[in-house]
Amino acid sequence: MAVSADPEVVVVGHGVAGLTTALVLSEAGRAVTVVSDRASQRTTSAVAGALWGPYVFDDPRVLDWSLHSLPDLTVIAADPRSGVRIVQGIEASHEPAVPPVWLRSVSGFAICDPSELPSGFGWGWTYRAPVFDMPVYLEYLMRRLIASGATVRLLDGPLRDLDQALGIAPVVVNCTGLGARELVDDRELVSSWGQLAITDNPGIDGFFSDFPESEDPTYWIAHPDHVVLGGMVRHGRDDLRPDPEAAERIVARCAAVLPALGRVRVRELRVGLRPVRPRVRLERSTHHGATVVHNYGHGGSGVTLSWGCARQVQSLIG
Ligand SMILES: Cc1cc2nc3c(=O)[nH]c(=O)nc-3n(C[C@H](O)[C@H](O)[C@H](O)COP(=O)(O)OP(=O)(O)OC[C@H]3O[C@@H](n4cnc5c(N)ncnc54)[C@H](O)[C@@H]3O)c2cc1C
Repeated sequence: MAVSADPEVVVVGHGVAGLTTALVLSEAGRAVTVVSDRASQRTTSAVAGALWGPYVFDDPRVLDWSLHSLPDLTVIAADPRSGVRIVQGIEASHEPAVPPVWLRSVSGFAICDPSELPSGFGWGWTYRAPVFDMPVYLEYLMRRLIASGATVRLLDGPLRDLDQALGIAPVVVNCTGLGARELVDDRELVSSWGQLAITDNPGIDGFFSDFPESEDPTYWIAHPDHVVLGGMVRHGRDDLRPDPEAAERIVARCAAVLPALGRVRVRELRVGLRPVRPRVRLERSTHHGATVVHNYGHGGSGVTLSWGCARQVQSLIG
């Protein structure tokens, strides 16, 4: 992969934030180079389930970015090779619960009759949302990026600092996820360990998620060829070791919702570290007089927020 002669912008990161941001800039006519120390299939983004939905977040901008991502994702989902589909699913609670207000504006929304819910759940609702087969979706983004004329480059090792990035292009967009802890010495960024079990698909479609969110959420997301079973959220845990015992509990919880999931083969466990911050860092700043736009720290919602955030980066660059 070659470097374009005079890139205007260097985007650092081959995860969903970096590829989407680079794509928006490149399709708008910018000369973009996208660099990373890891291939996209080895990023946190490749691990995600993934289901669209603003996840627990103390950041009021999250809802806007999530909703602003939907039009782009709707167009993408029309391409069967994108890895994105918009499907009907259910969110349900054991305790009396009302859906978040914003959900009422999402397509296909309806309150469920208790008879439509899995056993043990008394309250719930249904809606349509994008689901992502992330390895396939990242490949789709990469193909579209290269077709747009951007240069994609894998580095020998991580960039040490912003000066190194500015050696590539005069404007830097920092989409390094958890890597921003070192790249820009961000002490507010912490990892949140997560694990998913990938199983054969027993012939189901759609998604299920329990409500409200917790450290041990129960959810499944069906893809044509497999099902993603979740999940786990462990703040501060920083290793990538799978936990087979915890995975058995995930499968048991999902099987309690849908018994067929207890009878299928577990193909693999996926572990990843969500880049969690009190607030997403999406802002324009300067470094030795040069423009740097940060776009990282999306926690458990990076896929959901990707298009809304990318378009905001575009407007910050101007
Ligand atoms: C188990 C699990 C389930 C999830 N489920 C969902 C879901 O259902 N929905 C949802 O919206 N989100 C979900 N997420 C969250 C989502 O995966 C993340 O928010 C998102 O992937 C973050 O993307 P990113 O591009 O910012 O970071 P990453 O994917 O980590 O990419 C960062 C990139 O920057 C590069 N990089 C870092 N430092 C440097 C450096 N110094 N020099 C060069 N390159 C560097 C890396 O190599 C990489 O290419 C889930 C996460 C996990 C772990």
